[in-house]
Amino acid sequence: MGAGFRPGLYANPTVLETRLPVALPPLILNKPPVLMQIYKEFTFEAAHRLPHVPEGHKCARLHGHSFMVKVAVSGAVGERSGWVMDFGDIKAAFQPIWKQLDHYYLNEIPGLENPTSENLAIWIWNKLQPVLPQLSSIEIRETCTSGCIYTGSAQSH
Ligand SMILES: [Zn+2]
Repeated sequence: MGAGFRPGLYANPTVLETRLPVALPPLILNKPPVLMQIYKEFTFEAAHRLPHVPEGHKCARLHGHSFMVKVAVSGAVGERSGWVMDFGDIKAAFQPIWKQLDHYYLNEIPGLENPTSENLAIWIWNKLQPVLPQLSSIEIRETCTSGCIYTGSAQSH
């Protein structure tokens, strides 16, 4: 006998009716959407120096990088299109930002006075997110082995 058994409860036909699974939830006939993250990589060349590093730090000196920016977008794979979105649309959204960065001295760009990879990722996110609302992360690599990934968490208030 189960702990929840209460004698007499099912003798009342009204109660019995409400306990039976007469109204099953409607079957989901459509397949649930497949969620996926897609990305596109861009590169740009730029100079910078880091103004707030400790004295003698090599990054205080003017130098350049071949920066890599990976723009990731999340969403449902369209049933007919078979894609989350056109890679060309990601490129088109990023193009104006790329033009502001490529072959520039990053420290002279408003908002990038301290152009660390982290600040660059935030700066790009803030410019790109309004035109690319599905944006899910910005990855910056300033060398082959050093970089950061920003998912916009601190900005989503
Ligand atoms: Zn550097």
